[in-house]
Amino acid sequence: AGAVGGARPHPPAMAEAAMAARVPPDEDGDECLPQYRHLLSPDLLQGQVAFITGGGSGIGFRIAEIFMRHGCRTVIASRNLQRVSEASKKLVAATGQQCLPLSIDVRQPQTIAAAVDEALKEFKRIDILINGAAGNFLCPASALSFNAFKTVIDIDTIGTFNTSKVLFEKYFRDHGGVIVNITATLSYRGQALQVHAGAAKAAIDAMTRHLAVEWGPNNIRVNSLAPGPITGTEGFRRLGGRFAEKSKQFAAIPLQRAGNKTEIAHSTLYLASPLSSYVTGTTLVVDGGSWLTSPNSFSALLGIASSSAK
Ligand code: NAP
Repeated sequence: AGAVGGARPHPPAMAEAAMAARVPPDEDGDECLPQYRHLLSPDLLQGQVAFITGGGSGIGFRIAEIFMRHGCRTVIASRNLQRVSEASKKLVAATGQQCLPLSIDVRQPQTIAAAVDEALKEFKRIDILINGAAGNFLCPASALSFNAFKTVIDIDTIGTFNTSKVLFEKYFRDHGGVIVNITATLSYRGQALQVHAGAAKAAIDAMTRHLAVEWGPNNIRVNSLAPGPITGTEGFRRLGGRFAEKSKQFAAIPLQRAGNKTEIAHSTLYLASPLSSYVTGTTLVVDGGSWLTSPNSFSALLGIASSSAK
């Protein structure tokens, strides 16, 4: 691997192997891990229930798996019932925990309310909400339609508010709870071709702080988790991951690589569990230091946008 600024020497092979061993393994597609070595107690979330939007694919799927491997039962909810149903079968088979697949559109509060009712009927409790549902694509602001911008705000920002408010009213207000919003680092440096997603996620980070303040007295913790480039995800494929790999762009990331879904799930586990019992209103950036150093070139990203459209 290259070094930031090109000046740092290669780490010796031994150190490289040790570094690699510290990265938890991941599977590329929406499949469960063939093996899993617990770094934390397997009963960390024993008896708890997590409601995970976008839990049928990508990062949300792996979060569901890792939570279930720590004793949690899950509800995975998104628009495509077939997708969440198939995902649920895989998750149950790999972990032996219960997983309820439900269809919701986070833009429609009544669909969320119906799903939360069904989840409460099944499990009698919900302890954790993961707001992972989102939509994204690369597009310069000049080519972005009014409707495309609005759709991303509707799914990401308003969807996160809708789901949080339904959970608050139906359960968290009286029982407490934990909310983790999956956001992004896009707005930190005004990432090119990402005004829609960057604005949507920045608004969620603001929402995280507002709700942490208002709902803290109800024993509800609210935090954001902002992933960097994460392999084996739709986001990574669409946002030029392969292109970045080929063009050695990862050399600009301090940890010299993309992250994986297991790493995001582990950090989400920290935020959702009592390990972070005094943490609220903050954003945990899980990006290998990426946003500090990665290039933000409009013309290079336009190249990725056109090559990923092919
Ligand atoms: P993904 O697999 O496409 O996950 C998005 C999920 O959202 C899908 O399961 C989709 O399922 C669901 N969804 C979309 N619209 C919805 C709606 N209106 N109502 C309910 N569910 C909806 O992508 P991912 O890359 O793993 O991303 C997961 C999260 O991580 C997102 O919040 C994303 O912004 C964030 N993130 C990802 C990366 C990355 O490198 N991948 C980096 C930074 C942040 P249906 O189609 O069935 O609805």
